[in-house]
Amino acid sequence: MDFSELADYFDKIENISSRLEMTVILAELFEKAKKEEIKHIIYLSQGILGPNHIALEAGLGEGLIEQGLAKANGYSKEEIKKSYKELGDLGLVSEKYSKKKKQQALFSEKLSIKKVFENFVKMSNLEGKGSQESKLKMFAELLNSASPKEAKYIARIPLGNLRLGAGDPTLMDSLATNYLSEFIKNKKIVKEIEAELKEKKAGGTRKSEEKRKEEFERKAKARIRVMIETRFNIHSDLGAIAEKLKEKGLKGLNDLQITPGTPIRPTLAERLPTAKEIIEKIGKCVVEAKYDGFRLQVHKKGNEVTIFSRQSENMTDMFPDIIKAVREQIKGNEVIFEGEALAVNEITQEYFPFQVTIQRRRKYDIEKKAIEFPLKLFVFDIMFFNGTNWMEKPFIERRKKLESMITKGPLIEPTKSIFTENPEEIEKFFLENVESGLEGIIAKDPKAEYIAGARKYSWIKLKRSYKGELNDSVDVTIIGYFEGKGKRTQFGIGGVLTAAYDSETDSFKSIAKIGTGMTEEILKELEAKLSKIKEKNKPARVESGIEPDFWVKPEYVIEVRADEITKSPTHLAGNENGQGYALRFPRMIKFREKKPEESTTVKEIIQMFEKQGNVALKDA
Ligand code: AMP
Repeated sequence: MDFSELADYFDKIENISSRLEMTVILAELFEKAKKEEIKHIIYLSQGILGPNHIALEAGLGEGLIEQGLAKANGYSKEEIKKSYKELGDLGLVSEKYSKKKKQQALFSEKLSIKKVFENFVKMSNLEGKGSQESKLKMFAELLNSASPKEAKYIARIPLGNLRLGAGDPTLMDSLATNYLSEFIKNKKIVKEIEAELKEKKAGGTRKSEEKRKEEFERKAKARIRVMIETRFNIHSDLGAIAEKLKEKGLKGLNDLQITPGTPIRPTLAERLPTAKEIIEKIGKCVVEAKYDGFRLQVHKKGNEVTIFSRQSENMTDMFPDIIKAVREQIKGNEVIFEGEALAVNEITQEYFPFQVTIQRRRKYDIEKKAIEFPLKLFVFDIMFFNGTNWMEKPFIERRKKLESMITKGPLIEPTKSIFTENPEEIEKFFLENVESGLEGIIAKDPKAEYIAGARKYSWIKLKRSYKGELNDSVDVTIIGYFEGKGKRTQFGIGGVLTAAYDSETDSFKSIAKIGTGMTEEILKELEAKLSKIKEKNKPARVESGIEPDFWVKPEYVIEVRADEITKSPTHLAGNENGQGYALRFPRMIKFREKKPEESTTVKEIIQMFEKQGNVALKDA
């Protein structure tokens, strides 16, 4: 097919707003396409140069495109820029200037889809010195041979947005349309659909023959669409799917199986507001900690490891530490599994908030940041193991499998989990997780399959309510400390246990374990001060739900900032019926010259908690 014909189709589609009409035109286009070109047409319609996970980008930014338009049409870059400001779309600018070209190229040829597509792929492979000039030259050459309409789309392709208004669902509907006649050759299916229609008819309206036929086709197409989407969910490459359909028709879909290296569309979580409703909905369930980091889909094939994001982008290069750990800790030759990666403070083993973890999503200084903020990967599902599709097996079996496939090691571990049908147990687990810096919990139906690309109450999340940073800092008294691990061994102190003052009982009640915010000087100072007053047994007037390595008598007060105050099953400040209060993500600011009895009181903590308008167990 010539590129000009494709440009005509794109132009028609762009000017239609009815999805139904769009589907008809796209179906016609896909029908016309030859086997060798269908993949290219699909990718171009998606605004990409290959499946998402391969991430080919022509690498022509707006600046270079403007330069190309100026060069090919004989105008200044300033003029092109000005026009872009007016029209807001480089495609339209390209069309406009192609119509009033000041110079005609010496060589001009009829463009085929193959030629245009391959030229952009070639551009994506160019890098290093001189690559910009080569790209510019190739881009201008394409423009030289293009009609105004073609020029519009040639300028839009490198921008990754053809502005057709047709997303993946529309493309899949259009593909489905073309396989209707093959589908209804299957007599069993025809009978099934007709039975469905009869049932409807019995329920009421009599329909004309034409209407009935329409409805029959609609139902049949919907079924084909499900067949296509089911494949797309486990093999996210619509180009490859369309090519298989061209080659073998609907039965070709069976050739597209789960393949390490091609991402599976992720399952999604529903939400419910309380633990009780979760149990009512799915009964006894696996409840896991909800980590707030990156969702990673890991594909291992021998020594080759590929990592995909939630959006199926290839992120392999960003996580050399995880790649190494997968090779060391994951048994099995061919495995696809999922987990959440989170930055963890190596010394205190505290989880970092998302704002820290996000720093690992970068293209430069990868190794440096990997040392600064090491990640842990908490594995929560497995989809494929040594040739077997595990997606269809019940979750409880998948959980056992993933636990057995992980060799103990420093970086990869299964998510923390409990198995329960008791809402109170879920609430306690929820609070423990929120207090340790996590986001909440996800309950999982033990019977459910892995539902790719959709949410169906197989996962239910319960998140803490987001309240933002506490405006005030608090002053807490140190009641104990922990020995240092890792780099902090040299200081003899890794973190401190702190308490709020309860003026009613004149005692110090634990509220937070703090290992963050301390400089080396502060650590040294803490050690010097605390080692002099350390005690083996819990001092009088101290009440704590946590046992430190060493107790200290209440003497030193420190200022602390935290993200918020949460309810806590472990700490004893404000404890009532087994629930106290805790500081979430506490960070030490400095020493305070205060008497311990002058530190923030439990009463004030409760007031601050209420001011947050907070009941921790709430959906976000
Ligand atoms: P949300 O993004 O709030 O809809 O929650 C679902 C997301 O939570 C998933 O996409 C994962 O990235 C993340 N997550 C964190 N911990 C878990 C877990 N234990 N199981 C499943 N997903 C988790």
